[in-house]
Amino acid sequence: MRFRPNPPLAPRPFVPKGWNRGRKRPNLKIEPFPSLRMTKRRWILSIMLAIPAVIFHHLLMAQNLSQTASPNPVQSLSALTATDKAELAEALQLKKVIGDQVWPGFSGADIPIILYNDRHEFLVGAENPGDPWEVVEGDDFLGRRYYRRAAKDPQAFAVSIGAHWAGSMGTLDWMNGKSPFKLSPDFYLALILHEVLHAYQADLAPARFAKALAVYKFESRYPYKDKEFADAWNSEGTALSEALRAADDAAARRSVRKFLQIRDARRERATFGPDLVAYESELEWLEGLAKFAEIRFYESAALCAGEARIVSYRPGLPPYIGWDFVRLEKQLGRQQGDLRFYLSGMAQARLLDRLSPAWKAEANLEKIDLEDLLRRVVGPEKKN
Ligand SMILES: [Zn+2]
Repeated sequence: MRFRPNPPLAPRPFVPKGWNRGRKRPNLKIEPFPSLRMTKRRWILSIMLAIPAVIFHHLLMAQNLSQTASPNPVQSLSALTATDKAELAEALQLKKVIGDQVWPGFSGADIPIILYNDRHEFLVGAENPGDPWEVVEGDDFLGRRYYRRAAKDPQAFAVSIGAHWAGSMGTLDWMNGKSPFKLSPDFYLALILHEVLHAYQADLAPARFAKALAVYKFESRYPYKDKEFADAWNSEGTALSEALRAADDAAARRSVRKFLQIRDARRERATFGPDLVAYESELEWLEGLAKFAEIRFYESAALCAGEARIVSYRPGLPPYIGWDFVRLEKQLGRQQGDLRFYLSGMAQARLLDRLSPAWKAEANLEKIDLEDLLRRVVGPEKKN
């Protein structure tokens, strides 16, 4: 894995067709969804949970990283750096080339991106976003002007830009400054595309997106601390893992049925009402699909190495993503807040890819219920 912060070749001037053409950009404000305030903590917590794997990875890569650390530590915080731009260009290239494999229609979707540091948020891919965004004078991104505003509570999530949404994430320098270890650029690009998928959800399925955010109000009622409940979640994760690893589709279906049975029994025992069922299914839609996209992007990027320009992807999954699958298999009941739903939703989406490959093309993003789709795909247990 090599990362050259200042690639010898300038990024190809890639601009998606029709990017933001004709969009109206009224005043921007961050929607006051309560969950948005959680998102900065969320990525840090999510990554912290992967620390054992990351430390291992970091030890392996220490030599490499020390050779490739940013040569510009005293960077200006008032504009995107050459490294930021190269990474953004690469993320857009991956989205263009691989996006439709990850989610039909994603490649060509016009989605602005925000990168932020302690001082500013920088917005690319938007036209005239309006106050308080100002043009970054004397600079451009891929030949087009871009914007900034003072960073006030920036979010690693989808951020509303007038009537549309942008995927928002810290710059890699900023994130590495907040983290006890260095994130590698390959993983970082997958994280950007995770946030861009949230913007896609918000743009394409606004009512569902709002519904998903609204279920955070049920979080305080969720029985995280109930031991039996947590044990059942652990068993669900194990069954999902068995299904993902199954040697054939029949075995995968059996493990999916087992997962659904454990889930149904857990809810019945906990006397779940519709609110808490919605808490699970909506967060599996919101975060499970984004996690699914993040990992699919990584896997697909590794398979088309020729498309990557500044980041080398290794075949297979890196340890920090591999650790997600360990948590899925062994520790799902210990994941706090919404973190378990990233994993359970991701696993269900991967199983749908396996057992019903056309599910994404056939489904309406607004209406997707991963669990219901899986129930339909595996059907009832056969008695013989
Ligand atoms: Zn997310």
